[in-house]
Amino acid sequence: MLLPLISMTAIGWIRWFCILVVLFQSIAAAAFTYAISSSDTALDRVLRYDVAWSGAGGRLEMARLQKDVARFALTGDPADAKQARLSYQILLGRMRTWNAGAFHKLLDTSPRLRALFDELFLKIEALENDLNILENLEPEALKVVLADLGSASEPLSRIGTSAYSTSLTQAESIRDTLRERQFIQHVLIAGLFVTGIALLVLTTIQNRSLTRANQRLRDNGERFAFLASHDGLTDLPNRTAFDLALNASLERLHSDDVRIAVLAIDLDGFKAINDTLGHGSGDALLISVANRLSAEVSSWNPRNVVARFGGDEFMVLLHLSGNEDQVVARANQLRQSLRVPHTVPAGTVIIDASMGWSLSGKNDDENTRLQLNADLALNQAKLSGRGSIVAFGPEMRAIITHRNQIDADLSEAIKTGGIVPFYQLQVELGTGRIIGVEALARWRRATGEWISPGEFIPIAESTGQIVEIGRLMLEAACRDARSFPLNVPVSVNISVVQLMRDDIVSVVSDLLAATGLPSHRLRLEVTESAVMADVERALEALSRLKALGVSISLDDFGTGYSSLAYLRSFAWDELKIDRSFVQGIGNDPHSLAIVKTVVALACELEISVVAEGIESHPQHQLLHEAGCMIGQGYLYSKPVPLAELDAAFGRLVSRIAGWRASNGHRQGAALRCLR
Ligand code: C2E
Ligand code: CA
Ligand code: CA
Repeated sequence: MLLPLISMTAIGWIRWFCILVVLFQSIAAAAFTYAISSSDTALDRVLRYDVAWSGAGGRLEMARLQKDVARFALTGDPADAKQARLSYQILLGRMRTWNAGAFHKLLDTSPRLRALFDELFLKIEALENDLNILENLEPEALKVVLADLGSASEPLSRIGTSAYSTSLTQAESIRDTLRERQFIQHVLIAGLFVTGIALLVLTTIQNRSLTRANQRLRDNGERFAFLASHDGLTDLPNRTAFDLALNASLERLHSDDVRIAVLAIDLDGFKAINDTLGHGSGDALLISVANRLSAEVSSWNPRNVVARFGGDEFMVLLHLSGNEDQVVARANQLRQSLRVPHTVPAGTVIIDASMGWSLSGKNDDENTRLQLNADLALNQAKLSGRGSIVAFGPEMRAIITHRNQIDADLSEAIKTGGIVPFYQLQVELGTGRIIGVEALARWRRATGEWISPGEFIPIAESTGQIVEIGRLMLEAACRDARSFPLNVPVSVNISVVQLMRDDIVSVVSDLLAATGLPSHRLRLEVTESAVMADVERALEALSRLKALGVSISLDDFGTGYSSLAYLRSFAWDELKIDRSFVQGIGNDPHSLAIVKTVVALACELEISVVAEGIESHPQHQLLHEAGCMIGQGYLYSKPVPLAELDAAFGRLVSRIAGWRASNGHRQGAALRCLR
């Protein structure tokens, strides 16, 4: 994770450096252009200011003119006169060029030079007439012309020399400028060269970094793609990948002449292993299970697939040549392979699995539901007990349809007040005193039919509707309890879904405040499985509820895994012995022994014990003799609506009086434990 960050930072720096280099190169290029253009200017000046040559030219032309006039004086030849006139015109032209352009500028640099030239120019112009009539001049006049030329030659020479020296000085300064510019040009070229190489090196480094980053991106992309279709813990294909594989196999079903079976697998008691041995061992077990399943199914057919759908839920796709018997045989093989002990960090674990399966047939519609059907069969397998292998049957779908119907109707019932509490009395076995009432939810459908909570509570728990139902029940029970005879307390069942919510304590305290029921008259019943879902969180919530003044009861005691351990982990006010023990108490000595042990233990821990589901007088007697203080069951009263509670009270009081009169009343063995 850190590496890409570092290289990203490096790439950032390189980019900034490149920008700086490019900036430098732009400035250097501008300076270079300037240096070249200023060299051009200097060269231009060299050409423009080359007055030395023009000065020397003037001096030569004057000398030639003097020579031509002298020759004519000697020969008197008209051709020599003509030659002298031509030389004069050349010299006159030279003088005119001296009076313009660069030479003109030079003359203007010194007033003395200017005056000298002006005088010279007038002198030379004045000779024009004499030269035009050279052949006609007297020898004396010719001497004068030669003398004039001689006198003009001297200032002309001075001007020429001056031009030459000025030109030399200027040439020197121009040379200096050019040298300076050349130096700058060399420096700039070297700079451009070095930065160019630096740029090349940096681009190479950047390219390498980008290539590496690209490689990492590709690797990550492949990993992401793998994770998107695989389970992170076991590396098995996940639900999405399984769906794809199943669809592909379904498409080739008829052409391949194979049958496909889907097997849904759930590990039995995995949660308990996870809770007791820790998540590290839980994970190790899942990996071991995944490896065994993979090894088995791929050895049968390479197209077979094992997927993990989450938790301890696995799904297997099998390609078979046989029929139902082959599926059962394969399922048993898998089960046997899983039952071989697994080594995990905490030790050795033995595990069993429940399986549901469905097999493709002629009906294409049915084939598309193979996975769903396997799931339904797995549900049935889990209900049938550990290690069951169950085939899908159409009746299972009816159960789901019924469930969906209940789910839909329940929403309506919650809104329209169709869910109401019925109340069942709790009796002190020794005295027959009515000491409490349990609120039990009832659903009255629009048709008038009553639906038992055993049917709708599990569905409401799975859909989350239990939260609203639980709130309704709490509110109704707290409100109704204010008018209960003898101000007895009311017990309300709390589902695991409610207990795990952050707002459970505020919901209870708000309802107590809203209904005005004193908190000591409310008892909340939670089951062992609710606590087991997340022991720490559950016990924390229960402690905060208890702090409100509410008492807490452990319901269905004896039906969970490690009941006795939970007794010590919290200051329970009450525990309720499950009906299954009470039912067996008359004819099964084990049930009686268990009840006696639990009662004795609860006495030690100062927890009062309620026996549930007492239906007969002998059960009442046995429980009382076993030391159990409180009973609840049809023997005393069935759950009744609020309107019939007073009557149920009255009936029970007179019945107890009757029993006392006919039987006498035997003292319970553990009366000292009465709450
Ligand atoms: P539970 O809390 O163990 O309630 C006792 C169950 O035993 C009640 O069933 C009650 O009617 C039944 N019962 C009581 N005495 C006898 C008897 O002598 N013989 C027989 N055969 N049965 C007896 P019910 O009302 O059908 O409730 C079933 C379960 O539904 C409850 O078991 C409780 O776990 C759950 N439940 C009921 N109301 C609520 C509720 O408001 N919220 C939650 N979360 N669960 C509820
Ligand atoms: Ca209960
Ligand atoms: Ca119970």
